[in-house]
Amino acid sequence: MKLLVINCGSSSVKYALYAMDAETVLASGLADRVGVDGDADAELKHVRADGAQALIAAPMPDHTSAIALILQALLDPEHGVLGAVTDIDAVGHRVVHGGTRYAGSVLITDEVTAVIEACFDLGPLHNPPNLAGIRACARVLPGTPQVAVFDTAFAQTLPPHAYHYAIPYELYERHAIRRYGFHGTSHRYVSGVASGLLARRGTPPEDQRIVTCHLGNGCSMAAVRGGRCLDTSMGLTPLEGLVMGTRSGDVDPALVWFIMERECLSTDQVDALLNKQSGVLGLSGVGSDLRDVLAAEAAGHERAKLALDVYCYRVRKYIGAYAAALGGLEAVVMTAGVGENSPVIRRRCVRGLEFLGLRLDEAANKAVVGPAEPQDIAQPDSAVRLYVIPTDEELTIARDTEEIVAGLRPGIL
Ligand code: ADP
Repeated sequence: MKLLVINCGSSSVKYALYAMDAETVLASGLADRVGVDGDADAELKHVRADGAQALIAAPMPDHTSAIALILQALLDPEHGVLGAVTDIDAVGHRVVHGGTRYAGSVLITDEVTAVIEACFDLGPLHNPPNLAGIRACARVLPGTPQVAVFDTAFAQTLPPHAYHYAIPYELYERHAIRRYGFHGTSHRYVSGVASGLLARRGTPPEDQRIVTCHLGNGCSMAAVRGGRCLDTSMGLTPLEGLVMGTRSGDVDPALVWFIMERECLSTDQVDALLNKQSGVLGLSGVGSDLRDVLAAEAAGHERAKLALDVYCYRVRKYIGAYAAALGGLEAVVMTAGVGENSPVIRRRCVRGLEFLGLRLDEAANKAVVGPAEPQDIAQPDSAVRLYVIPTDEELTIARDTEEIVAGLRPGIL
């Protein structure tokens, strides 16, 4: 089965074409500056598995033209991988917000697109382009089944005591204000891999308590017991929880109106302040990329050190909180750009957690940078495992899509 995985942002479309017999990526790429005014710089970067590349500059006024260009690249005699568009058996889409309606991936129908549209309020930056991508594929690949894989689905198993905010209950009823959680596809994938590793060490899945740390541009954590997500650090929006590149994570909500008053800011301005000018960037003044902030810290920059201290302390605090929420701990998982690549940050995040039974193997930690396979960086006799697991959200989307499409009777297709 050949599956196209699509991740539509407001001005970009990421894609990967999978051959599911061996779960290999045949080609992948990125259409950039989609629908941007004066799209002179719009271009498609296309990479084939054997390394052949193409850079196609072409106007892409909307998502439909971007998807059409992606198909053109996939069919191209020189750098393509497909003989005909009908070789694509199904399309899997990343969709950020499924509200409370979807706790798993679904075949896209009119009812599903209506729910995605109804969630525009909850995911204003992501759901509209996600839906635009679904509609574009329906136009360009008519009759091809499409599957939605929701970022919020994995955290739908949170119990009410974890997803409710202590605000008037009517607000939950009227506006669905609750904690949703994001990065669910990543947390599900890496906790699944960790579960397999723990099972091989003799801990049966139902007894496994795992804390996953997705540390990328956006950062979030999840507490997983027996494969079910019981808590997660992002909330109504992806602003809550950990310190991120440009997002503040947890703050006292009272500081919102305090800042608005003192700095004479509008709601849009304070929204931008907490989402785009805070986090590691705001504290350090250096940037949002941890590599730059680490380099500045090494050169003696004090605010860079402060930003990293706050970042790592927040992760450490959440590991402790989630160990308590789970009633114990078998493994901590580090993943995404920072989690997979930065031994220094990993070390600082787990410092002082020996009392939980988590003992880092310093040499193993240092040796693991961008691993292709999962690695265990805890000391051999550590009671709690510490895994570095490369996340793979696209593969998870492809697997869900295959499962859902293969489970259908041909008549429904
Ligand atoms: P996204 O959340 O956009 O998917 P990634 O998971 O790719 O992002 O993570 C990107 C981030 O990873 C970068 O902003 C950078 O801060 C961080 N990163 C990548 N490599 C390293 C490294 N060697 N050391 C520290 N941080 C790194």
